This record gives sequence, structure tokens and C-alpha cells, in this order.
Amino acid sequence: MSQDTYPRELEPNPSIGELQRIVTGLRHYLEDERRRGLKGWPRTKTSPAALPSLLAQPGPQSPFTLDAVRTELGDCRRCKLHRHRQQIVFGTGNPQAKLVFVGEGPGRDEDLQGEPFVGLAGQLLTKIIQAIHLRREEVYITNIIKCRPPENRNPQPDEIAACEPFLIKQLAAIRPKLICALGTFAAQTLLKTEEKISSLRGHFHPYQGILLMPTYHPAFLLRNPGSKKDVWEDMKKIRREYDRL
Ligand code: URA
Repeated sequence: MSQDTYPRELEPNPSIGELQRIVTGLRHYLEDERRRGLKGWPRTKTSPAALPSLLAQPGPQSPFTLDAVRTELGDCRRCKLHRHRQQIVFGTGNPQAKLVFVGEGPGRDEDLQGEPFVGLAGQLLTKIIQAIHLRREEVYITNIIKCRPPENRNPQPDEIAACEPFLIKQLAAIRPKLICALGTFAAQTLLKTEEKISSLRGHFHPYQGILLMPTYHPAFLLRNPGSKKDVWEDMKKIRREYDRL
């Protein structure tokens, strides 16, 4: 390589952003090499045990960006859900959101449109967000799993194990102060508990330095409108914390 082409990225003391770009570039290079037939280098993977600590890293700058996480997810075939999906539903909204909503997994409408919470339950979620004077674009919305399970069945443990690291990296990129876990599945998965949503909801739980409020899933509310008042109480608590940030 001539001195003229010495890459700026290799200058001493690169910033975290530059390091991220170097790592992404290296990954693309190695993936190209593999496509050309090179075999046998180990895949770089963050160990699952190390993932939650990503959320606790100090400083305002995250070592991740949502784009890099999406690139790493790629045309994911890490679990069997890829076989029936139309699209990966990664997440949508503000990459610097203070508040992130986490649902269960895409349904039919989301699978077709590639965006979370766009069906009937999604329309109700939009109204819930607006009720606390926020817009969908101001928050970030995603799911525990990114591909639609067949017949909308519950996600299975191997599917969660394959997908949760990407949710954690999304959260590490966004660094929200508040998470609203929508429904039993999201709340139990994030909090690693089997407690019922009815006892989890209504108060904040600590989650890797973030305040997490579980509440009922909008699809549950469509079947049980009587529970809307509970969700409203939970949302008011979220709004109060949001205003303190
Ligand atoms: N239900 C969910 O949990 N997530 C979606 O994206 C849509 C419906």
C-alpha cells in the first residue's frame, strides 16, 4: 500500500465510531473472502453472557449503531423461523429514543410490511403512544423476535436464543432510559421471570440500568378492553418518568 493511500482509519487513537467502521469493514472483507471460497475463520460473535453488560457500558457513546446491528443480522437464518417469513421485522423509530416499546414478534401484517405493530394491535399501540403526547417517530418500536412464527404461535426457546442478542444490541445502540415491555412474553423474556404479567405490570423493574415497565399487550386489550384502564395507569407512570429525563 503506498503512503498516498494510507487509510485515515488506521491513524493512531481512533474514536469508537472509527473502530466500529473498521470492524464493519473487516467483517465485509472476510465475508467477501468466504463467498470466494475461503473456509474456516471463526465467526466473530459477542458471547451471549457478555451481552447484557453492553447495555451497562459507561459514557454517552454506544459502540453499536442500529445500521451495524441490522447489517450483522443480515438475511438471518439462525433459526427455523426464516423458512416461513416474508420479511425480517427489525424495528422502527427514533435511533436515539428515550423510550423503547418491545413486543413479542411480528404478526401477519408486520411480516408483509416489514414494520412492527402495523396491524390492529399496532393501531391501538399508536393511540396509546399518542395518549401520552408522543408520536411513533419519537420512540423506538421493536420485538423480541424479528420473524413471524407460523400461525402466530408463541416463540420457542431456540428462536429467542437466536434473536435476543440482536435486541440487546439494538438497545445498546439506542441507549433508552425507559422500556415498555408489551405483554407476558416480552416482560418475562426481558426480566427472566415466569411471574404473571398481571403482577409484573404497574411498576418499574430495573433492567440493565434502564427502567422497564411491563404492561398488557395491545392485542390482549383488543380482546379485553376492560384492562385499558390498567394500561393507562402504566402509561401515565412512563410519561412521568419521561418528563423527569
Ligand atoms: N404483536 C407484536 O407483539 N408485535 C408486532 O409487531 C405486532 C403484533
